[in-house]
Amino acid sequence: MERTLAIIKPDAVRRRLTGRILARIEEAGFQIRAMRLVQLTRTEAEGFYAVHRGKPFFPGLTEFMSSGPAVVLVLEAPGAIGRWRELMGATDPSKAAEGTLRREYGTSIGENATHGSDAPETAAFEIGYFFPGVELARAGGVG
Ligand code: GDP
Repeated sequence: MERTLAIIKPDAVRRRLTGRILARIEEAGFQIRAMRLVQLTRTEAEGFYAVHRGKPFFPGLTEFMSSGPAVVLVLEAPGAIGRWRELMGATDPSKAAEGTLRREYGTSIGENATHGSDAPETAAFEIGYFFPGVELARAGGVG
């Protein structure tokens, strides 16, 4: 079993797409192990995306991520990191494959509806960023 951090970004929450995206997550076979609605401050968004500090899109990205509520989730499945990235599609919605969430719900490379961890190390950092010290429900538990 593997876990990944997923975010339903502020653009998607604003457009009332949360329920549809959650349905796609469950239909794809992920277990939701933790979930919160969060309003990030600019500083929290900068901490989460620290790896991108200094890139041209960093100010716009952190402004957008703190522009309204987002839903943060821990998803669990075999190969969850890769499978969630596959379901999301490419970063740029116009380049994302047909049937992916970003293709369907993203509107630009910046406002692309969802986030997912890209490796086990980033998943561990990102899960800890939003769910510090929380004992997550185990397989066979509440899920
Ligand atoms: P991801 O792992 O597919 O989310 O992509 P990255 O880790 O490379 O980038 C993080 C986020 O920054 C993306 O999801 C986009 O929202 C944003 N981003 C990345 N590249 C660009 C870009 O060239 N322009 C803009 N405006 N945003 C970008």
